Amino acid sequence: MELIIGSHVSFTKDEQLLGSVKETLSYNANTFMFYTGAPQNTKRASIDEKLTTQALKLMKDNNIDIKNVVVHAPYIINLANSSNFDFNVRFLKEEITRTEKLGVKKLVIHPGSHVGFGIDVGIQNVIDSLNSAISDNDDVVICLETMAGKGTELGRNFDELKQIIDGIKLKDKIGVCLDTCHLNDAGYDLKNFASILDEFDKIIGLKYLEVIHVNDSKNNLGSRKDRHENIGIGTIGFDTLINIIYNDKIKGVPKILETPYVGIKAPYKYEIEMIKNKKFNGDLINDILK
Ligand code: FE
Ligand code: FE
Ligand code: ZN
Repeated sequence: MELIIGSHVSFTKDEQLLGSVKETLSYNANTFMFYTGAPQNTKRASIDEKLTTQALKLMKDNNIDIKNVVVHAPYIINLANSSNFDFNVRFLKEEITRTEKLGVKKLVIHPGSHVGFGIDVGIQNVIDSLNSAISDNDDVVICLETMAGKGTELGRNFDELKQIIDGIKLKDKIGVCLDTCHLNDAGYDLKNFASILDEFDKIIGLKYLEVIHVNDSKNNLGSRKDRHENIGIGTIGFDTLINIIYNDKIKGVPKILETPYVGIKAPYKYEIEMIKNKKFNGDLINDILK
């Protein structure tokens, strides 16, 4: 099986999914992830069917399997905060519908922050929101992302994610997204990725693993910071990331880069090339800026 790798791409009002696919192809990637609008707000344009059809055709022509494509829900939605319960549920339902209209099957969401109410209350709020938003005929899997543990963030370890999953009624609609930067910042030493994966399998179950976010980190192990770095330049390092990307047990899981732009330029084409070559490019930043 070929490596399934891509990056975060844009989804603009004018070109929508078609633009996302074109951008993906420019990086020589075979999958991608996008927000259906600005990540920091919940304003969303309606989905243009014609653009979607054209996008799906372009994907087909280029062997991009829609099953590997990912939507990321806006990060200002905080499912752990029950004071926004009705809004959260309504928005998440709409986001599921938008994701379905685009043909995408995976929707990543941050579990949320308990904002002082405590971990257990926060987790219960996440469970209640998800159970209200998810319905049996949805054709989308909601993927809970592992978090760095910044502030009162939930989902900073496998036990917290397991606690959420345990409360979900429709278990076939729920999955997990591992983010390497977040794992590192939460204190998981990725040099031992094989044992981390074993722990994941024991606590949650590998079948729940739907997406991997591949990022290096600007901060040290256990820093609880969440600042992404370009591949091979951060504290996780190139060899450790390659070891994760090519792990046999997660071959079929899409790998998505969310590394920072260098100036105004996207790094993804260059990072994907390094990953495919399994060789770190010491001139990465210069090559991107060229
Ligand atoms: Fe995320
Ligand atoms: Fe992420
Ligand atoms: Zn992050």
